[in-house]
Parts: sequence; C-alpha cells; structure tokens
Amino acid sequence: MLNLKDSALLKSQCYIDGTWWDANSRFDVRNPANGQLLAEVADADPALTERAALAAQKAQKNWAAKPAAERSAILRRWYELLVSHQQDLACLMTAEQGKPLAESRAEVTYGASFVEWFAEEAKRMYGDTIPAPSADKRILVLKQPVGVVAAITPWNFPNAMITRKAAPALAAGCSIVVRPAELTPLSALALAELAERAGIPPGVFNVVTGTNAKAMGEVLTQHPAVDKFSFTGSTAVGKQLIAQCAGTVKRVSMELGGNAPFIVFDDADLDAAVKGAIASKYRNAGQTCVCANRFLIQEGIYDEFAERLVAAAKGLKVGHGLQEGVQIGPMIHAQAATRVEQLVQDALAQGAKRLTGGPLQDLGDNFYAPTVLTGVSNGMAIAEQEIFGPVAPLISFKDEAQALALANDTEMGLAAYCYSRDIGRIYRMGERLQFGMVGLNEGIISNVTAPFGGIKASGNGREGSKYGLDEYTEIKYLCLGGIDNA
Ligand code: ADP
Repeated sequence: MLNLKDSALLKSQCYIDGTWWDANSRFDVRNPANGQLLAEVADADPALTERAALAAQKAQKNWAAKPAAERSAILRRWYELLVSHQQDLACLMTAEQGKPLAESRAEVTYGASFVEWFAEEAKRMYGDTIPAPSADKRILVLKQPVGVVAAITPWNFPNAMITRKAAPALAAGCSIVVRPAELTPLSALALAELAERAGIPPGVFNVVTGTNAKAMGEVLTQHPAVDKFSFTGSTAVGKQLIAQCAGTVKRVSMELGGNAPFIVFDDADLDAAVKGAIASKYRNAGQTCVCANRFLIQEGIYDEFAERLVAAAKGLKVGHGLQEGVQIGPMIHAQAATRVEQLVQDALAQGAKRLTGGPLQDLGDNFYAPTVLTGVSNGMAIAEQEIFGPVAPLISFKDEAQALALANDTEMGLAAYCYSRDIGRIYRMGERLQFGMVGLNEGIISNVTAPFGGIKASGNGREGSKYGLDEYTEIKYLCLGGIDNA
C-alpha cells in the first residue's frame, strides 16, 4: 500500500522505554487525499502516558552522565539514518499529512538538519568563569540539562517539529516524551524506530500516540517527573497548557500561531515579491504558522501585484501529494477546507473580490485551490484570524507609516515579510516590525542556523541555531569560597 523500501518503518505501537507498547484500544490513521486507512495506531491513555514520563525520568541521569562526545556520536548516527531513509519517511509523511512528496522530502532533510546541528552543539555546551567580587572567591557557571522534557507537536510538520525539540533536548542530556498530533503519528513512530537503531538508549526518546489530547496533555504538563514542557500548536491551546504547567512551575517553550504580514512597497522587485509570496503563502497548502496571512500592498503596484499573483497561483498544480508535479496537496481534513471557505465568504460579504481559487470539490472535500482576494481590510476576520489555508487576502496601503501600523496591529508576533529596494526602508522595517522573525526581500526564512520563534501571543523560546540548546539547559553557578591567596 505504502510501498516502503524498509517496511519496518511503519509502526503502530507507542515507543516507551525502548519497547513497542500496545494500548487498550487503537485509532485509525487515514490519508487526507483519499481517506484510505493507513494504520490502526495504539491509543494511549493517561496511565501509558505516565509510564512514558517515568521511563524518561529513569533514563535521564545515565544519558546526561555520558560524555558529550558520546551523545553527539549517537545523535550523528540518528541523523545519518534519517537521511538514508529520506524517501520512506517522505512517503509516510505525504500519506498521513497530504503535502506533496517534494515538500515531504524537503521536510525530512530539514528535520534531519536539527539532529546534525545539535549533534555538533552537544560538544559545545560551554560554561563560564566570572571574575569574583573578592580575592578569596571563584565563580563558575555550569550548563546542565533541564531533565525530563515533554513535547506536544502538531500535524503540519510531522517530522521536523519533533526533531527541532528532541535533538537539542538529547544533545543537552535531557530525555524526552513526544506526543505527536493524532492525525500524523506515523512519522513520529518512524523517528522512534530510527532512534532505536541509532543506539539511543531505552527511555531517552519516547513516543506516545493517542486521540485524547486533553488527558495526555494533563499528564505531560502536570506530572512532577516532567521538568520542561515544549509545545508547537495554536495560541488557544498553548495558553491552556502554560496554565497547566504553573502548578509544578515547569520551564515552557511555546511556538504558537502567527498572523504574518507580507508587505510589498512600490519600489519592490515585483518578480521577487511574487515568487516569495507564492513560496510563503501556498507551501503546505497554506498550513504553516509562518505562512503570509495578510498581503499589504502599496497603492501604486496593487493591481499589478494582484494580476501577477493570480497568474502564478493559477499555475500551481493541485492534487494527490504522491502524483508527479503536484504542488498543492489536500488540506488536513474537510473541516479545515470548510473553515477557510467560511472566512472567504465572510470577506466577500464585506466587499472583497475573489480573483481566483475556492473549493475544488471534484478532487474531494479536502481540496482547496490557491486563492487570491482583493479589497480586503485589516478588520475582516480573514485578516485577523490565522487562515491556515491557501488564501491570499490583499490589503492596500498608502505609505510606510500606514504599512507598519497595519502590520503590527495584531496580537501575534511570529513572522513578517517585507519587500523594497530601498535599503533604509528595509532596515527601518526590520527594526520596527514587532515579530520574532522578519524576511526582508525573502519569503522562506526557516533554517537550522537561525533562531525560530515568536513574541507576543506567538509564544516564547527559540528553536534551532546556537540559541536552541538554551531551552534545554539550566544555568547553575558555583561560588567557591575560602581560597587561600597566600
Ligand atoms: P492545530 O490547529 O494545529 O491542530 P492545536 O493547538 O489544536 O493546533 O493542536 C496542536 C497539538 O496540540 C496537536 O498535537 C493536538 O492534538 C494537541 N492538543 C490539542 N488540544 C489539546 C489540549 N487541550 N491539551 C493538550 N494537547 C492538545
């Protein structure tokens, strides 16, 4: 059915303490492109989730006690296995998530890049010495692992959202329990199979799959064995989970929703802006947290930009992600496509125009064609909410001050994009946009070397880059007294 070269990568049980565990019941995992049943996966209850947390607790100290070079070598083996199984991992991902195979391959490479990066960073978890305030003292700063990490991850990047958390955690000497989204557990379980083959010791990397997100989340956010909680998902759920972590004062990292403005000034290179817009907006059928959500286009080029974007959007091939040449796959489920159409209808009722796009029911209820709307304003629901679908709403603006005011007028602060050939304006915008990441004349901003993360209601903490390890380390300071300076 899936035609994997290595069929052992298709797993259907939880991976806890180095063992594949069944649960009392199972749930169906289906292909969003055609509804085909892919697997019946173990549906973990809170007791099994707790078992995973306790296994992680038991394993953590020995893992942390290994020399950094040894943890690094094991992570490096995991990286090599991820790369050598790229095609199978990509097939599993397209089957359960829907994105085109080329995008799945790219995600596997991107996901593996975090494992490679943090295999290297494991060896550079440097401390510090600080000049002491008096002659008889010495001050040393140690970096130590936070301990046991729990992570809840979303369905839109079923591989990379896990490695971006697990790789720095393991590099730092933490153990981890991952609870993947119930829609995409197969990529997570394949990661566990390869973790085992890489020699990651039992209990250090655990995956619990299940449909009862709330109950599993309660264990992972409230259990005293868990020291740190990391989440990627919606702001609404993130807020609840932060509150749940309060009782045990856990460290938290939150990668939450976005509402990215994509600003194009009259003096922009329009070809580059349209290319960036297509990449930023329509990747993964618009289902990424850094997708352009509102296009702010200066008056002088508004019509021309709209025309060019429509032409490019119409050229994108929509279909089953495994078919050759497909650039836009299905949305994750029919409700997601319906919700997007409701946002579009709301905008149309308030005077917006649909230049292209809309539901593609002949392909199935989950399919939605790349869409461009003009005549949108910032107050419409489609500009205020995270669309999470392939719709580009175009808002017009007069000058730089108005562009900035519109762009920052959101509670979100994840990503923003800005196109202009004026170097002064580009720099000013970069400084003044209230977002954690800003693409300047660039539509694709995420890579392992750079700190990924948001401000305001888009969360806190950074993933990837030299900063990513900090999320999984504690700073401890030793004060040595009584030093004889004779
Ligand atoms: P999305 O809209 O991307 O699905 P969610 O925030 O709903 O965003 O989901 C992100 C992850 O959080 C998924 O793995 C989902 O199953 C999980 N989740 C959803 N609700 C809860 C909850 N109340 N407690 C814990 N996890 C949750």
